[in-house]
Amino acid sequence: MSIFSKLFHFSAVSVFPSRCPYCDKVIDDSDYACKICPRNFPGFCYSRYTAGGFLCAAPFPYSGVYAKAVKALKFHNRGDYARPLAAQLVRAVSEIHGDVRFDYVTCVPMHRKDKRNRGYNQAELLARECAALMRLTYLDTLEKFKRNQPQHKTGGRDREKNVYGVYRLIDEDIIKDKNVLIIDDIITTGNTLGECARILSNGKCAEIRCAVVCSADRNKFIAPGQGSDSACRKGPAQAQKQ
Ligand SMILES: [Zn+2]
Repeated sequence: MSIFSKLFHFSAVSVFPSRCPYCDKVIDDSDYACKICPRNFPGFCYSRYTAGGFLCAAPFPYSGVYAKAVKALKFHNRGDYARPLAAQLVRAVSEIHGDVRFDYVTCVPMHRKDKRNRGYNQAELLARECAALMRLTYLDTLEKFKRNQPQHKTGGRDREKNVYGVYRLIDEDIIKDKNVLIIDDIITTGNTLGECARILSNGKCAEIRCAVVCSADRNKFIAPGQGSDSACRKGPAQAQKQ
């Protein structure tokens, strides 16, 4: 690191100190949370299935301080939360997907116009941080080539139709026979991650798994035969058996 880089890093840390994503207290640059918040973390990681039956891991439910942290990352420019949230995501991945050696970490992509409007894709920030923490390669595998309604503004069964056919593979040759981990911020119905997993599956990936920061429990939106939410809120052992 050059003297200028060191000075820049020092001033950046002084002006923008690291903060706990769950309570926003200032924390050490090397920490992922304050000393208090982790005491209230759920005792086990969540697992459930996306549309199509792809297993998804999450460290947190979509509620309370966890939902607030994800919303801050997504809507309020708190890109600095990506690294500490990714650390918990990686914990869930090792607990739920410990049986897989991943080749690539990827993310649910945004349409380029939406990404330009927001300035970043929060799922990509999380995926890049996860890849760094897991010492794996981050790879853009999918492109969102059609714009659709945001999923949270779409109701019920329409969520499935809303994401169908909006993603495509960037390069089929790179992902063939590879184990891929898809990262997103939240899983609600599981239709978005399920559609991304379906496209990767069409590209002959060997193994596809998913992971998110927060898992919402929205059983009523899962259509029969599209994976089950029943694994949600159970430990990984029970989830794997289903
Ligand atoms: Zn805290």
